[in-house]
Amino acid sequence: MSITDNIKTIDAEIASMCKHVGVPVASPRLIAVSKVQPEDRVIAALEAGHRTFGENRVQEAEERWTALKEAYPDVHLSLIGGLQTNKAGKAVELFDEIQSVDRVKLARALAKEMEKQGKFLPIYLQVNTGAEPQKGGVLAGNLSDLHAECKTLGLEVAGLMCIPPAGDDPSLHFALLKKFAKQEGLEKLSMGMSADYALAAAMGATDIRVGTAIFGARDYS
Ligand SMILES: *Cc1c(COP(=O)(O)O)cnc(C)c1O
Repeated sequence: MSITDNIKTIDAEIASMCKHVGVPVASPRLIAVSKVQPEDRVIAALEAGHRTFGENRVQEAEERWTALKEAYPDVHLSLIGGLQTNKAGKAVELFDEIQSVDRVKLARALAKEMEKQGKFLPIYLQVNTGAEPQKGGVLAGNLSDLHAECKTLGLEVAGLMCIPPAGDDPSLHFALLKKFAKQEGLEKLSMGMSADYALAAAMGATDIRVGTAIFGARDYS
């Protein structure tokens, strides 16, 4: 299967799920998660015309995308992984949006860097919907305060992002995220990965983050 075929399959799966549950066919933005993938697969996606990519580590993204962004200047990069405050500057420089904002300290660092660089990126607040101690994301109870603080800082908060706990029924978490976004008056919902993007899309995802189903399995060895 080629990358183009894989992307077509994703669209078809979403259409089929939407019909199955009786909602209008959705077409969320497809963030192709290129972390750890070999260069040739990423170039194949670029050559197929895909432009929106997600990375979860600043340094890895820098190594991969500094050169590729010169060859494909209209690429749009989304940071979807945990961010340390001391890498906020690099992140603002390299990325076009940041989906993993989960604490006030990080929001402050990003606001300061955006001001300094004159580059104002949309952000998403990552919500730890499963309240998992090892996972990033703001706890539901602290979301409103974080959102308010981000607004005070002048950050453009576009929406919410979540990564459901492995083994849980993801629909529960997608429904929660949607509820929180409504409460906060936020539009964008980044939810759904390779195993559950069709369900997420049928439940209102505006962004899906898909790695394996586009590029194949990641080889960490
Ligand atoms: C790796 C990753 C994905 C993509 O995972 P797949 O299961 O390969 O689609 C999506 N979101 C985040 C935050 C990730 O780190």
